[in-house]
Amino acid sequence: MEVLLGPAICGGCYEVPAAMRAEVDAQLPGSASRTRRGTPGLDVRAGLYHQLADLGVARIGGDPRCTLESRDLYSHRRDPRSGRQAGIIWIDPRR
Ligand SMILES: [Zn+2]
Repeated sequence: MEVLLGPAICGGCYEVPAAMRAEVDAQLPGSASRTRRGTPGLDVRAGLYHQLADLGVARIGGDPRCTLESRDLYSHRRDPRSGRQAGIIWIDPRR
């Protein structure tokens, strides 16, 4: 199995209340972060990476772009009236 994680808001930007960070990190260990402003944050990609690695997924890649910082991507935090992104998952029967 190979996983490619798509772009997401980064842990340096994704500010959340401390209680929310603790709740999410309890369900998705490794996702707690601190924002660049020094406030509680979430790094959902880091949490997903840890979860996938713990499940034995050896090939994990990803798009490192932050949706809040990259103007070419949609971001609800930057512009709540922006568009949406979609992910695609498939099984390649030739593998
Ligand atoms: Zn960011």
